[in-house]
Amino acid sequence: MNSLKIGEITLTWLNGGNTKMDGGAIFGVVPKPLWSKKYESNELNQVNLPSDPIFFEYAGKRILVDAGIGNGKLTEKQKRNYGVDEESSLEENLRKLGVSPQDIDYVLMTHLHFDHASGLSKLEAGELVSIFPNAEIITSNQEWTEMKNPNIRSRNTYWEQNWRPIESQVKTFEQKWSMGPIKLVHTGGHSNGHSILIIEDGGDIAIHLADLLPTHAHHNVLWVTAYDDYPMTSIEEKQKWINWGIENDAWFTFYHDAVYRGVKWNAKGEIKEAVKRD
Ligand SMILES: [Zn+2]
Repeated sequence: MNSLKIGEITLTWLNGGNTKMDGGAIFGVVPKPLWSKKYESNELNQVNLPSDPIFFEYAGKRILVDAGIGNGKLTEKQKRNYGVDEESSLEENLRKLGVSPQDIDYVLMTHLHFDHASGLSKLEAGELVSIFPNAEIITSNQEWTEMKNPNIRSRNTYWEQNWRPIESQVKTFEQKWSMGPIKLVHTGGHSNGHSILIIEDGGDIAIHLADLLPTHAHHNVLWVTAYDDYPMTSIEEKQKWINWGIENDAWFTFYHDAVYRGVKWNAKGEIKEAVKRD
């Protein structure tokens, strides 16, 4: 398991499963001759997109960021469509860290698309149950509202089976949620309720732009996925936060990157420090 220290807080990446998505969809309007120089694809034009949650502790609280694709919840057809070649092993990973799923106090959800929210619940004796029964599940009010009442487009990714089992644990916020040096900030863009995570501790900063910056190859603010519902918002928020992160020498951390867990960029956009995946 890879980790990164931000002040006194140690971020540890867990295995939330792997998908292989169409490269064209992941890089939106960017032509393949450009994106293929920055991110590897296979003969089917698919790119590897792991979905790896981050675990950390703060002030005795145990916190997860997003929940992975889950285990045993996708149909064979869904697995084929999303190129799932590995499901989540979150519970095993946590146990290795001496943490049980019951110990998790907060799950901070950047958004509730299936590849982030499926891992919140599992099938037990034919019934869907919460995996983190004692956690508050934090998400923006916009995201939660749309998940329960998706539109004709978003119903492809906001599934009832992913919100029903955890409904009673959800706590929503409007613009911002914070606890000490940790904050979630609503951005919109990728989804109407999408939020990002910022951790500032001991002079270090981590900024987790979630699906506004799915991989290091999305550094260019115009490189927005075709899944983004509000691409101009994504572009504006990327401009704002990538500049802010670079000016403040922040670590940019990733959920979907197949190469890096986190990078620091200089003003020219060159990687000056990196944590690579195992
Ligand atoms: Zn995603």
